[in-house]
Amino acid sequence: MVGLTCAALLTQLGVEAGRAFSIGIVETAPPVPVPSSVDIELRVSALSPASRTVLQFSGIWPTIVGTRISPYRRMCVWQADGAAGTARSISFDAAELGEPDLGHIVENGVIRRAAWERVNALHNVTLYLTSPPAALHEETDALVVILENGQRLRTRLLVGADGVRSWVRQALGVRTREREYGQRAIVAHVESERSHRETAWQRFIPGGPVALLPLDDGRSSVVWSCSNATATELMAADKKIFDQRLTLATDQILGSLAATTALIDFPLKFAHAERYTGRRYALIGDAAHRVHPLAGQGANLGLLDAAALAETLTAQQQSLAADPGDPLILRRYERWRKGDNLLTMGMLDLLHQLFGGAWVPAARLGGLGLGIVNRLAPVKRRLALHAIGRSGDLPAVARGC
Ligand SMILES: Cc1cc2nc3c(=O)[nH]c(=O)nc-3n(C[C@H](O)[C@H](O)[C@H](O)COP(=O)(O)OP(=O)(O)OC[C@H]3O[C@@H](n4cnc5c(N)ncnc54)[C@H](O)[C@@H]3O)c2cc1C
Repeated sequence: MVGLTCAALLTQLGVEAGRAFSIGIVETAPPVPVPSSVDIELRVSALSPASRTVLQFSGIWPTIVGTRISPYRRMCVWQADGAAGTARSISFDAAELGEPDLGHIVENGVIRRAAWERVNALHNVTLYLTSPPAALHEETDALVVILENGQRLRTRLLVGADGVRSWVRQALGVRTREREYGQRAIVAHVESERSHRETAWQRFIPGGPVALLPLDDGRSSVVWSCSNATATELMAADKKIFDQRLTLATDQILGSLAATTALIDFPLKFAHAERYTGRRYALIGDAAHRVHPLAGQGANLGLLDAAALAETLTAQQQSLAADPGDPLILRRYERWRKGDNLLTMGMLDLLHQLFGGAWVPAARLGGLGLGIVNRLAPVKRRLALHAIGRSGDLPAVARGC
């Protein structure tokens, strides 16, 4: 989703700056149309208002709006020892921030299909769909990607937006700092006894957080991060047992829960590329960084990367003849985004260290911390504005300028 958004932004900003970019997209698994009668897909993302603004500017959001998206207007996070709304919890309300919502829960497939529709309508974009990349050569004034079918694609700038196992990153020899969390995230949709009240709920329990994200049809999407051993046990459990354990894990915040879908699970890992850019290349999205889903930030960070790269390449101070593969220009994008990504990744890591393990004193301390921040209105406000992408050094298209 991040790469397609970047292509749409580059086109749009390029037109405004008087630069016409010719863009080629290599995608071996393009999205396919899905009838609206099909159930809400299991992979959903909590998109921040900043991401919505980026998608709006790139012409993708209008297609998303007509689908089954769910706004969330409140967020409540609490620690196992306490209860939601008490001293060991923190809550955010969109109204307190002067925002209509804190974000939207959107199916990943919907975002991809909307972005795909958008780039398909652009005359400067050529799609290469049949053959994956096989080799990469460097020439004096270009990089050449050779596809498995022998086709050669010469480019002055190669953008790696190919996800966590990025072929581009590996072909360029860019190393990553990696760490296993020793956890898996179990994902399913659940029915609840009580309404989700357009609220995203997250409870930190020993082993990892369990989150309930509100869906458009009244159900919630559960993202339960737990140790590998617990995940294996839960994935193999009888449905009735799973429902009971999930209901207990969420402290019955929405009453009894019952899974209405199959369960899927994902290994969780931290990974950060040592470099985002170099001569004739840039990495964006999960190709550059992979984060814990505990605050739903992966796609949001990636969309800001896409916006920052597009803005860097079309900045006013650049001459129209500037080479988009110039490492000095690309370095501006890296400096811009790496700092912000590191800050967010650091905060996520801190939360994971405090609450993610089975070490109860750390979690208790974390719980107290939540309660204290909840009462410190200015600190809480700053945290919330950062999380929804309304503060920091944001690209203009994320600020709506
Ligand atoms: C359980 C879970 C919950 C999450 N929840 C949230 C959330 O609430 N909010 C949020 O912001 N983020 C969330 N994330 C993170 C989010 O899903 C990712 O950060 C996001 O999907 C990354 O987008 P991307 O475009 O960089 O990569 P991807 O979505 O992985 O896209 C990569 C693209 O590259 C293509 N590709 C890959 N390899 C090749 C190749 N060799 N040749 C050609 N094409 C190739 C793929 O087909 C795909 O289209 C969650 C992640 C998990 C695991």
